[in-house]
Amino acid sequence: MTPTHEHLSTTGHWIDGAIVGGNGDTIDVVNPATGDVVATIPAGTAADVDRAVAAARAASPGWAATGPAQRASIIQRLADELSARNEEIAQAVTAEMGAPITLARLGHAGFPVAVASATAGLADEFPWTEEIGNSLVIREPVGVVGAITPWNFPLQQVMTKIAPALLAGNTVVLKPAELAPLTARLLAEAASDAGIPAGVFNVVYGSGRVVGEAIASHPDVDMVSFTGSTEVGKRISVVASATVKRLGLELGGKSANLVLDDADLDHAVNETLANAWTNGGQACGAWARMLVPASRHDEIVRMLVTAAKAYTVGDPTDEATRLGPLASEGQWSRVNGYIERGIADGAALVVGGPGRIPGLEHGAYIRPTIFANVDPDSVIAQEEIFGPVLSVIPYDDEDHAVEIANSTIYGLNAAVFGEDEHALRIARRLRVGQVYLNGARFNPIAPFGGYKQSGNGREMGRAGVEEFTELKAVQR
Ligand code: NAP
Ligand code: MG
Repeated sequence: MTPTHEHLSTTGHWIDGAIVGGNGDTIDVVNPATGDVVATIPAGTAADVDRAVAAARAASPGWAATGPAQRASIIQRLADELSARNEEIAQAVTAEMGAPITLARLGHAGFPVAVASATAGLADEFPWTEEIGNSLVIREPVGVVGAITPWNFPLQQVMTKIAPALLAGNTVVLKPAELAPLTARLLAEAASDAGIPAGVFNVVYGSGRVVGEAIASHPDVDMVSFTGSTEVGKRISVVASATVKRLGLELGGKSANLVLDDADLDHAVNETLANAWTNGGQACGAWARMLVPASRHDEIVRMLVTAAKAYTVGDPTDEATRLGPLASEGQWSRVNGYIERGIADGAALVVGGPGRIPGLEHGAYIRPTIFANVDPDSVIAQEEIFGPVLSVIPYDDEDHAVEIANSTIYGLNAAVFGEDEHALRIARRLRVGQVYLNGARFNPIAPFGGYKQSGNGREMGRAGVEEFTELKAVQR
């Protein structure tokens, strides 16, 4: 039995500062730890999107005319309102997608506050106007932004869009993932309490196929900011092209983690598992491929096997749990299929494996898994698994390591462990948007985004705000 989140169930969308009824069709929100329905949301339609876009359009001139300093102070108030709702947000995320409660409090509920606050702090320094030769260059809002987001960090993925979009003076129509929509309602309440005017931030619930495509194709939406799979990103690019929309795409990843011969191995092993298995590996930047010198492969694998014992799988509401269930049964089948594929393709299974976990058959629980001696060209080394599955890949020399790291269609993140200057030289050779040296900490104002098929554009920090602006050059 899990508590329901009936109070977060809604029969309507959030449009123009109020709950607006849908047509009566609903979508169940399922707890992956139990299979219980914990809430329902409306299954939106294109007509609902029309209403939300009209509200966002009507609110646009007023919000754009509010100065950046005032918008920044409202966004800081939004951060404070969310901070006050930390426990409610964490409980909702744990119920809808199974994140362990400790991670839900610190990460799922905590990061968005940090991002909103850091974004508000950019307003003073941002070049809203600039003199270039005989031009006055003005940065203006793009207009109405459609935000389409995934379920893996449901509130965080929304915040990395709406904080910069709102700071830049845009209005927003959000479609959260149908799998994990509950925090959007809490966000709408927090936005309202923070003083964000009606119509500036709107939410339309529903499926990607219906509501997402209606947003991407809408003639009155000026920009689509999407986070999700590369496959859906390609589809949105096609749909949005009919109206030549601005597009921001944050797509999949298959991040490589290069362990150099001068790395502190204990540190590298511990940081690798902490990263690759956080949120059940359901993170676009998860270091899913660990590239190790062939001469140290067996030693590193032994260390991983020992370190893996600390990762307990269990009830996500238990504060001691490090890995909860995957976010859905669909996700379970997908990840389980990749584990079976790894075995079939000849990778050495050293931790975990396929199938249900005894005693936890009632939920979407999967074993955290490590494959050793993985062929860098095999399916499990090339495709995004989005689960707690780590592939250890031996390399011969550094050129080989860099070649393997750059060999997927993705280019989101990477990590390098080694002596500082050495690691930095390797970082420069990687075709990715972010590199973490020796487990360095996350920076909420560093540009985040991908090379290659991991997307285009950047979120967070100054680069993230620039994404949501148009440039106007006035010659005089
Ligand atoms: P997804 O299936 O691509 O869905 C993402 C969002 O797009 C959902 O809201 C989805 O709606 C919607 N959507 C689906 N089809 C659509 C269509 N035809 N038109 C418009 N919208 C559509 O991704 P996911 O399974 O939720 O999330 C996992 C993926 O996200 C992974 O590939 C991961 O790497 C990626 N991701 C990337 C980043 C990054 O910053 N680069 C961060 C996190 C996750 P539904 O509600 O119907 O699903
Ligand atoms: Mg999906």
